[in-house]
Amino acid sequence: LKKTYISSPYKGLSNNLIVLIAQPIFNRKNEFLGIVTGSIYLNKENLVSELLATTYSYKKSYTYVVGNKNKIIFHPDKARIGDSLKNNTGMQYITSHPTGKIALVNSKGIENLAGFASIPSVNWVVVSQQPTLELLSQANSIIIKVTLAMLGFYLLLFIFVWKLSYWISSPLNKLAQMASMLTRPNIDQDIKNIDPWYFEALRFRTALLLSSKHFKDEIAELKQHVNTDPLTGLYNRRGMKLFLNELEATNTPFSVLTLDIDHFKAVNDNYGHDQGDNVLKKLASHMKSNFRQHDVCCRVGGEEFIVFVVHEDPKIAYIAAERLRKTVAQSYIDPIGTITVSIGIASWPQDSENIQEVIKLADQKLYQAKNDGRNCIRSTSLD
Ligand code: GH3
Ligand code: MG
Ligand code: MG
Repeated sequence: LKKTYISSPYKGLSNNLIVLIAQPIFNRKNEFLGIVTGSIYLNKENLVSELLATTYSYKKSYTYVVGNKNKIIFHPDKARIGDSLKNNTGMQYITSHPTGKIALVNSKGIENLAGFASIPSVNWVVVSQQPTLELLSQANSIIIKVTLAMLGFYLLLFIFVWKLSYWISSPLNKLAQMASMLTRPNIDQDIKNIDPWYFEALRFRTALLLSSKHFKDEIAELKQHVNTDPLTGLYNRRGMKLFLNELEATNTPFSVLTLDIDHFKAVNDNYGHDQGDNVLKKLASHMKSNFRQHDVCCRVGGEEFIVFVVHEDPKIAYIAAERLRKTVAQSYIDPIGTITVSIGIASWPQDSENIQEVIKLADQKLYQAKNDGRNCIRSTSLD
């Protein structure tokens, strides 16, 4: 034939199972020179067994080679070499396809998953197969291992992201809490104590501090508005009550001066209401400069005033009142001229424990001063 020849397995004289391989040799002119033959002893260590007996990581997988007429050329179970493959449900399919994969039941009745490829030059088929159950249980254990590893990984990732986001959001969170407590007294210090470790939080903190300051200024201004008389800038009745409460709570002795402008109606009648208002403003400014900072000047009616003079001795209140009376009487107000005031004085707690009672007594003293000819002072301490 002068062609490559590979025989089917056969028993040699020495009772060895042999596959004969013959290869014709030609020279450059393509003249036939002869044949080189060799035989593979199938039951002994040989090239095929060396190639196919390599163990793979799949423990129970095995590889075998089938030749013509389903004869086994190689099998890890040496006893089966040379036998014909029987009761293998996949052989029909395997021999009719060059390569492929198939689920089959092997000669021992075990379900296997097999992959195969044919070697056309020798008409052999190499089959690698593994019991299905074995493969699936391995696959399952791999899936479980991978799942557990992924779970662990995601858990760590989750904890990391959680901690990281907490770390990032913590100053913002604290600042947001502070934002709803701007009315608290020491809120500025609390805001300053927050560590704004990144730029946005720093800006938020600065904005919050600014708005806290703005808020406090607004409140202070509102309080000021609510408690003061807009014409004179003196405290109104509301402001007066705040100070009364404080004086009483701190048990601070004081005198009540009630002050009324003499013949003020005439000022309005002769010069108009605006000029009258101007007189009220002038008088208020005299009062502010006449009394000390701790004393409280209030406008409690149209042209009626009350001053609380804080002191250890009621005489001090009298001296201060007299000083004011003189200053007013000597001050020229253009175009009206001079005005005078009458003042009544009573002291707490000397005249009464009840503050309202003391105010009433001061009022009576003012009435007395009016009756005594005005531009004078009457005080309970002089009775
Ligand atoms: P007396 O010496 O008895 O106090 O006489 P008087 O005219 O001052 O009388 P009275 O104390 O009753 O003063 C009331 C007058 O004060 C009435 C009104 O013309 C004036 N008055 C009250 N409130 C205001 C105000 O807000 N502005 C001005 N311009 N005048 C006022
Ligand atoms: Mg009056
Ligand atoms: Mg008056």
